[in-house]
Amino acid sequence: MFLLQFKDTQLLESSAGQLSVSIATMRVINEFVSHPRVSDPSELLRPEVQFADKDLQAFRDYSVDESNPLKERVRLTYLHMHTNQTVEFVKDRMGHWLQFNTCKAAIMDALVRLNDLVDESDPDADIPNIVHAFQTAERIRADFPQDDWFHLTGLIHDLGKVMAFYNEPQWAVVGDTFPVGCAWADSIVYRNTSFNENPDGQDPRYNTKYGMYSARCGLENVLMSWGHDEYLYRVLTHNKCKLPEKALYMIRFHSFYPWHTGGDYDYLCSKKDLDMKQHVLTFNKYDLYTKSSKVPDIEGLKPYYQTLIDKYIPGELEW
Ligand code: FE
Ligand code: FE
Repeated sequence: MFLLQFKDTQLLESSAGQLSVSIATMRVINEFVSHPRVSDPSELLRPEVQFADKDLQAFRDYSVDESNPLKERVRLTYLHMHTNQTVEFVKDRMGHWLQFNTCKAAIMDALVRLNDLVDESDPDADIPNIVHAFQTAERIRADFPQDDWFHLTGLIHDLGKVMAFYNEPQWAVVGDTFPVGCAWADSIVYRNTSFNENPDGQDPRYNTKYGMYSARCGLENVLMSWGHDEYLYRVLTHNKCKLPEKALYMIRFHSFYPWHTGGDYDYLCSKKDLDMKQHVLTFNKYDLYTKSSKVPDIEGLKPYYQTLIDKYIPGELEW
C-alpha cells in the first residue's frame, strides 16, 4: 500500500516565490498532487554530439524559440533551476527530504505510483514513467542477462521522481544536475544565459572554480543540485538496500551530464569517482528515451522484478 499523505503543507508557502513558475509549467495544484505531469529534459533534449542520432536530433537546438512549446518548456525549466538551485536551497531540501518521513512504500508500489506521472514533453505520446522504468530495465536485461542487480537498477533509477507528488517543483525533481557551491562549468545547458539571477554567482564563497570544495575532494563531499538522483540514492542507503556500489553511482549521478558526458568537474573527483564514471555512462545508454521502443508487458514482467526487489531492497521503505 503506497501511502501518499501530504506531510508538509508549508512547502508551498515557504518557497512560494520559487514555486510560482512551476505552478504554471507543472500544473501544480494546492496540496497533494494526484496526477503531476513532469517532463525530464535530461532524457529528451541533449546538446552533446554523442546523442545526435535521428531520434534526438530534432531537440538538440538549444536556441531560444518562443514559438516552440517543447523548447520553451525545457528552457524555462532550466531557467528556474539555474536561478533557484543555490547552496541554501539544496540544504533546505535535504533538511526536508532526508528525514524520510514523507511516506512508506514498497518499491513495486512506488513504481506503480509512477503510472500517474506522465511525461508532458512529448505531446504526441504520453508515456507514463513506469513504462520508461520497464523499458530501461528490459533493455539492460537483454544486454546483461546475468547482472540481475543491473536490471533492478534500470527499473528503479527514476523512483526519486515521487517527490513530484508532494509539490516539489519540477526543476528540483528532474533535469540535468550540477554541483552547487562552486563555479558552474561550461558544459551545463544554458550555462551562459540562465544563471544570471542565481545569488551564488555573486558570492565569493561559491563563485570560484573550487568554491567551498577542494581539489579531488570526492563527489560524496559535493552538494549536487537537488533532484531525483540524489533523493533516491539517499532513500536506498537509508533503507539499507543491498545493491552494489556501482549501481548506487548510476542512480546518484545519472543526470550529472556536465560530468559524465560534458567532461567537466573531474577536478572534484576522487579516483573512485573517476573509476565509477564508466558505469554511469554504461547505464546512461539505456536510460535515454527512445520513442520507438515498444511498450513492455508490465504485468507479465512484475513477478521477475519482484524477486529482484525481494533480494536487494525488500519490504516497505521509508521515503
Ligand atoms: Fe532520471
Ligand atoms: Fe530515466
